[in-house]
Amino acid sequence: EAALAWESRFEPAMTADGTRIEVVANLGNTAHARDAVSRGAEGIGLLRTEFLFMAQAEMPDVEAQQALYREALDALDGRPLVARTLDVGGDKPLSYWPVPREDNPFLGLRGIRLALTRPQVLRDQFCALIKAAEGRPLRIMLPMVKDVAEFRAARQIFDEVIEELAVTADGEALQLGVMIEIPSSALLASTLAAEVDFFSVGTNDLTQYTLAIDRGHPQLSAQSDGLHPAVLKLIEMTVQAAHAHGKWVGVCGELASDRQAVPVLLGLGVDELSVSARQVPMVKTRLRGLTMDEARRQAQLALAQPTAEAVRSALEDQA
Ligand code: PEP
Ligand code: MG
Repeated sequence: EAALAWESRFEPAMTADGTRIEVVANLGNTAHARDAVSRGAEGIGLLRTEFLFMAQAEMPDVEAQQALYREALDALDGRPLVARTLDVGGDKPLSYWPVPREDNPFLGLRGIRLALTRPQVLRDQFCALIKAAEGRPLRIMLPMVKDVAEFRAARQIFDEVIEELAVTADGEALQLGVMIEIPSSALLASTLAAEVDFFSVGTNDLTQYTLAIDRGHPQLSAQSDGLHPAVLKLIEMTVQAAHAHGKWVGVCGELASDRQAVPVLLGLGVDELSVSARQVPMVKTRLRGLTMDEARRQAQLALAQPTAEAVRSALEDQA
């Protein structure tokens, strides 16, 4: 099966009844973009830009950032790049952007909240990304957005930048979206969907905040499962809100490459799965073996279970 998956890795992922799902890769190092393409990735669904910044001794200026982003875009050769703006704080400290000591860093100054305390950093990043793209498909997404007010604050900076650079975000080459990784943003997905270009569900943080389990907790890791029906319910709400507004939804957390989760996410209506580059051939093969009816059936089966454990055992016999 693995050999067959590898041979067909450049073919698009189409379900047996003709629904097309984009399979793209997560990236933390722009030098690895070429490798992702060679494994069949149809683009990058999550560039964790904070990792690029962590590899620097000081805040890279617009020009230095542009060079990094250009490296990824060149390797992608016209395929889309979804770049996440800096997601610092929580589990990802940045030495030259110290955050005051907090009792609960995961509930503190992180992601978009932190970014909005230094709008110039966000402005520079928008600017560098758009300049590097030079009209190639670029989707910028904001991490840890909890409601539409945070999106609007970032959108205002984005709008100033695109006006300065005389480009337009017409929904084709350039899009601005948000990650759905805080339960509040899933619950309020309709209000967000009216204003964003797309959603990408970060199941790692969404699971952490929904179940109140630290994503890295050694003793609780078995319980920290994105297939929990509560998390699936939030994903379902997100997809329904997005599609009602004609927007697309990706999933870029670990759940996207979980064998049992792939049919469920497909059945919930997700349009794009972003996985580690190594998993691209497997995920594409898995999608090709499904029909939408079958996937919807598995999604409903999962949603009807009371616990993550029950979801996994109900899905076991479905493979
Ligand atoms: C997530 O939270 O699911 C996600 C994709 O982002 P990160 O793992 O970088 O927090
Ligand atoms: Mg996250």
